[in-house]
Amino acid sequence: MMVAGALALGGIVGSFLNVCASRLPNGRSLWRPGSACPACAHPIRWYDNVPVLSFMVLRGRCRDCRAPIAWRYPGVEFGTALLFALAYVHLGLGWELALAFVFLSALMVITVIDLEHQLIPDRITLPVIAAGFLASVVLGRPSWPHSLLGIVVGGGIIYAIILGSRLVMGVEGMGGGDITLAAMLGAFLGWKLLLLGLFLAVLLGAGVAVALLATGRRGGKDPIPFGPFLALGGAVSLFWGKEILQWYLRGFVG
Ligand SMILES: [Zn+2]
Repeated sequence: MMVAGALALGGIVGSFLNVCASRLPNGRSLWRPGSACPACAHPIRWYDNVPVLSFMVLRGRCRDCRAPIAWRYPGVEFGTALLFALAYVHLGLGWELALAFVFLSALMVITVIDLEHQLIPDRITLPVIAAGFLASVVLGRPSWPHSLLGIVVGGGIIYAIILGSRLVMGVEGMGGGDITLAAMLGAFLGWKLLLLGLFLAVLLGAGVAVALLATGRRGGKDPIPFGPFLALGGAVSLFWGKEILQWYLRGFVG
């Protein structure tokens, strides 16, 4: 029952995140006007706006002009639903779950915007950093010094990588948005799980970059946004970070 509730809530939130991802980069209002088909501008009826299900009923096409609906829309709704259900299974009901919903929603919308526009808006990261730190002060998980250290270490490491790659190789890899995104991870995860998240992000990013270059799908100069890897590393660290660290330290010591 509760898992179904988490799935449904995730679908609804995912639908809103789609609106955010479409409008925030252009500076448009999130609330007005209501959603419309990007091809024919016909307003979307409430019964055609049910997460995931409407896409299936409409077979991926606008009811009015039959233009295809981008896969991003049901994808984000479905993905957010799965993440919310996973969070409920891991955390159970409580404030920690509410906090995880905020964190995962931010990661999802940042991933979509970075993939589509190669930018990470401060309008999302800065308030979410503040929310994560405030929550650590109130709830104590992670403790606020760990959260604060996470913000500083996360932002600092990415800043150092950007400076280093500029000086040593003369390339622009990551952007300023990656600094605030890493700080956001630190605010929610604390510095230990943040370091694991960063490590996973670099590992995943390097793996995908090598694969894209090797298969010739990207040239050496095409930018590959790093935000989605940070988001993925942060989510994995949120769900399985403690287990991974325990497993790693056991292997290291014994
Ligand atoms: Zn249409």
